[in-house]
Amino acid sequence: MALDEDWITEICEEGGSAFSLKGRGKVFEQQSPFQKIEVFETDSYGKLMMIDGCTMVSSYDNFLYHEMMSHPALYSHRAPRRVAIIGGGDCGTLHEVLKHPEVEKVTQIDIDEQVTRAAKLHFPELCESNADPRADLLFIDGIQWMKDAAPASLDVIIVDSTDPIGPGEILFSPQFYGACHRALAGGGLIVQQSESPLIHQNILEHMYRNLLGASFQDIRTLFFPQPIYPTGWWTATIGARDTQLQSHRIDEVAKRGFETRYYNEEIHRAAFAQPEFFRRLRETWLTADLSSADTPFIEQRFRHAGSQPIPGGRRSRVRKL
Ligand code: SAM
Repeated sequence: MALDEDWITEICEEGGSAFSLKGRGKVFEQQSPFQKIEVFETDSYGKLMMIDGCTMVSSYDNFLYHEMMSHPALYSHRAPRRVAIIGGGDCGTLHEVLKHPEVEKVTQIDIDEQVTRAAKLHFPELCESNADPRADLLFIDGIQWMKDAAPASLDVIIVDSTDPIGPGEILFSPQFYGACHRALAGGGLIVQQSESPLIHQNILEHMYRNLLGASFQDIRTLFFPQPIYPTGWWTATIGARDTQLQSHRIDEVAKRGFETRYYNEEIHRAAFAQPEFFRRLRETWLTADLSSADTPFIEQRFRHAGSQPIPGGRRSRVRKL
């Protein structure tokens, strides 16, 4: 069945797949200095934000991603008082983090103020906590902020970034992970969106390699469904500084004083369960020889056909409504 003009389609070359939503028109478009931001009205997923043609957040299923990017890591830390969110311009992760009364300060650093402007206009429910006195919203490059952060000044770093391409590429680099390791206090955790476990294994391998290279210990990946992303199955990868990852406060999850729609105690445990294919891959990544020079293979992978980043990334052609 050929899709007509009303359908918004993201094509994932790498996965040889596409994802389409029936649209009702575009309600926002902005070419910022960093990326192109578009928001569409859809039939069944509410509003849909796309950045550089890639699906980022929809009103309908964002709770899956935002809850899993925040609660498992926060409940895996003994006392997550000081949190930094790198990226996260749609503010959904910030909203979830601020549900935790034990969190004393959250600094969100997104490179692009236009993403937050679009979110305030079209996803106000995600921006409800932006005025919380514990929150600071900054608009600069995440790697610069992390390099300037004081040593041992953070407990949890959440990297809610775009894909490892364009402005988001540096957030998967050894330099960035090194800066994060330095900024974290002992027992500190980094958690980063790590793409699809089915078609982005090269990116996950790269992340494990660079997190290990930056002296993070006990690197684990958690799994969750995300319908609007390629393959509908997504991950977040956690690295621990000077400690083994343990669900320290799992018993507090059941007593949490705030609402969640996906995350709970069972989901916390289940999310860390490793599918067999992934368990085997992870074992090879954790025992890989780190001595061989780090090839910028993400760069190589995405840009081997000329200047324009094509196959492998989530670049797409969006049908203009
Ligand atoms: N959930 C989405 C995903 O998995 O693709 C990510 C959502 S969030 C909107 C991604 C944010 O990362 C964007 O707002 C973008 O501006 C931000 N970003 C990209 N590169 C960045 C950088 N170097 N420093 C800070 N923020 C960055």
